[in-house]
Amino acid sequence: SKFIVGLTGGIGSGKTTVANLFADLGIVLVDADVVARQVVEPGQPALTEIATHFGLQMLQADGSLNRPLLRERIFSDGAAKSWLDQLLHPLIRQQMLLQLQNAGSPYALLVAPLLIENGLTRVVDQLLVVDIQPETQILRTSLRDKVSQQQVAAIMASQCDRQQRLQLADQIINNDQDAAALPEKVRQLHQVYLALAAEKLA
Ligand code: ATP
Repeated sequence: SKFIVGLTGGIGSGKTTVANLFADLGIVLVDADVVARQVVEPGQPALTEIATHFGLQMLQADGSLNRPLLRERIFSDGAAKSWLDQLLHPLIRQQMLLQLQNAGSPYALLVAPLLIENGLTRVVDQLLVVDIQPETQILRTSLRDKVSQQQVAAIMASQCDRQQRLQLADQIINNDQDAAALPEKVRQLHQVYLALAAEKLA
């Protein structure tokens, strides 16, 4: 089976920035957030199940999911949230694994903010963590998302803690410095992963 590198890190740590550098080297990316949207696209069985369970108001006029309404519903209703998680988590996982196995590159990258939280460490061969000082993380994220530093800190508190993430990491990319340093670090890691992927095949 395909050699899979997991890429994770806290909110605004630089996962997307790092992932795009692997894509520049021809590596296929599977992004958990993208897959999570794909499984509820019009025509997908999960969307029909959601509309049947919560009502047709969960669909917009064009047949797509009314995300704000669904978010509001599960925010205020724990049972609704667990029903939705039980429906979507296995589908997302299955779809991610399918896309990873079908990747046309020597290894594939699974990019997931909640990789550790969602128990995906078991499906990856190596875990790459993007690490950043919390102060820098809060600053960059609040600038990017135009939200308060308190809001970013609250999201960080709901995610896996930095020490735990670093303990599980096989490789760590520090992203405190200028982004100009990243391409060289990614090229080095790419060589490591190519070698490990070849070993797995042998
Ligand atoms: P999220 O989990 O929220 O999706 P992420 O981990 O994918 O975030 P990015 O979007 O890659 O993080 O980076 C967060 C912000 O910081 C972006 O605005 C990005 O352009 C910027 N950024 C990333 N790396 C650096 C760097 N080394 N120096 C300065 N800014 C950076």
